[in-house]
Amino acid sequence: MQREQMVQRLREQYQTQTPWDIVVVGGGATGVGVAVDAAARGLSVALVEAHDFGKGTSSRSTKLVHGGVRYLEQGNIPLVMSALKERGLLRQNAPHLVHDLAFVVPNYSWWEAPFYGIGLKLYDLLAGKYGFGASKLLSKDETLARLPALEPEGLIGGVVYYDGQFDDSRLNIHLAMTAADHGAALVNYCPAIGLLKDAEGYVNGLTARDALTGEQFTIHARVVVNATGVFTDSVRRMADASVEPMMVTSQGIHLVFDRSFLAGDTALMVPRTSDGRVLFVIPWHDHAVAGTTDTPVDAPSLEPRPMEEEVEFVLETAGRYFTRPPSRKDVLAVYTGLRPLVKADSKGEGKTSALSRDHVIHVDSSGLLTITGGKWTTYRHMAEDCVDHAITLGRLPDLDCATKNLKIHGYAEEPVGLGAADEHFAVYGSDTEAIAELARDPALAQRLHSDLPYIAAEVVWAARNEMAQTVEDVLARRTRALFLNSGAAREMAEPVARLLAGELGHDEVWIGAQITEFQTLTESYRVL
Ligand SMILES: Cc1cc2nc3c(=O)[nH]c(=O)nc-3n(C[C@H](O)[C@H](O)[C@H](O)COP(=O)(O)OP(=O)(O)OC[C@H]3O[C@@H](n4cnc5c(N)ncnc54)[C@H](O)[C@@H]3O)c2cc1C
Repeated sequence: MQREQMVQRLREQYQTQTPWDIVVVGGGATGVGVAVDAAARGLSVALVEAHDFGKGTSSRSTKLVHGGVRYLEQGNIPLVMSALKERGLLRQNAPHLVHDLAFVVPNYSWWEAPFYGIGLKLYDLLAGKYGFGASKLLSKDETLARLPALEPEGLIGGVVYYDGQFDDSRLNIHLAMTAADHGAALVNYCPAIGLLKDAEGYVNGLTARDALTGEQFTIHARVVVNATGVFTDSVRRMADASVEPMMVTSQGIHLVFDRSFLAGDTALMVPRTSDGRVLFVIPWHDHAVAGTTDTPVDAPSLEPRPMEEEVEFVLETAGRYFTRPPSRKDVLAVYTGLRPLVKADSKGEGKTSALSRDHVIHVDSSGLLTITGGKWTTYRHMAEDCVDHAITLGRLPDLDCATKNLKIHGYAEEPVGLGAADEHFAVYGSDTEAIAELARDPALAQRLHSDLPYIAAEVVWAARNEMAQTVEDVLARRTRALFLNSGAAREMAEPVARLLAGELGHDEVWIGAQITEFQTLTESYRVL
């Protein structure tokens, strides 16, 4: 997947005066999912992303492919069933990226075992043939064997259940590559800056600007899909400045610790925090991730920052469950994501945590098709629904959805090449062999930092094949260095900038600017 080739595709399509079937605005889970669906059906599709693929919410999730135990409690059975089915399909289609994870709900009161035990049996039942493993009650000793760091004082036992885990921005990039493999043209660093309309006032394309070169593109399409998450309303306003906003935003933070805080391979699930939510502490890429929160915010931003009270809340809540409660100085990184939530009908009341996580398809009177809400887990189903609507709206050929059994880029049932030797390579799936080939050069086999497993060959791979353009692209989304250890990532900026400059043809001035820009960004990912 090479950026210059993608940009050239936009130019060529314009020169032939042929509209694309669909142009998608936004390169997060929702947008790339739509691009995969449309391309796999045989439709022509272009996608423009303002920043990098996955820069928004889609790189900042809790990393769970799940039905949502919490929605079960809210009685939203259809949402849970649909998400459990999607969980199963995603593991089937991207086994290199999605794996089963055991979760333990520890019980400190007598009523918790029957209460959560029954709830989680229902969760198993709703998964049907897409089940990941049967939940069961655990004795106190069995609970501590799974979670050795758990506070034993007052512990009665626990319940174990199974869900899925993934690497969100890696799946995002592999979906972009899947779409590209099926003929889609996807361009990062290319914001949509205006919508085009036909003589009757219906949206029939957009203008976009290449943020790296300044070149402007006119992209005509039969349907324009707005998949911009928390920025949904700003794109809707490009078509009609007077539209009633449909989105509200809430943010969630995660704290990342050394793996020793969660000894063992099992995740901890706290089913009811003091604010009535759930909190997870999960093993991820050899670290422990704790989160999340649900705090309403006024305006969306691409780089949200954690609030002091959110940091305190996660530390305090997680700390209650461990013999060695983590403190601020143990936080290796903090990351913050914004939920794109669709407003409730009754305005202005209730908490954002009570708003539906179902997805919404909305068509404005201008003909702009918006898809928003939902969850990472359900991106495929959302895309299917969206493209079905786009086919009707744009009078496109009525082609069937082809993604239920579509293998996602990198598909590999077992780790291959370096992936078999070092766990962190497994997420590359079948691409690992090509990275291993690059790593035959001793200079590229070098680790970039002693605290993280990433090697120089991954930077070169990301620049050549995954459209990485900046140090941030490499350290935040192609690898997960920034999300795992922001201090280590800061120290990796210079070698990564030099490797990228060599690949992309940049000079010393660019290298200096990239290092400064990335090191400034790391400030938002550390707790003071
Ligand atoms: C804290 C938190 C934890 C979560 N955990 C989970 C989880 O564990 N499991 C799960 O299934 N779901 C989870 N979710 C939900 C999931 O992450 C989101 O539903 C999903 O990532 C939303 O993807 P999106 O593509 O709609 O939005 P985004 O990822 O935000 O993508 C929108 C994109 O649009 C781009 N854009 C904006 N304006 C323009 C423009 N003018 N031109 C071009 N591009 C533009 C942005 O740059 C952005 O990249 C979580 C969400 C949060 C906030």
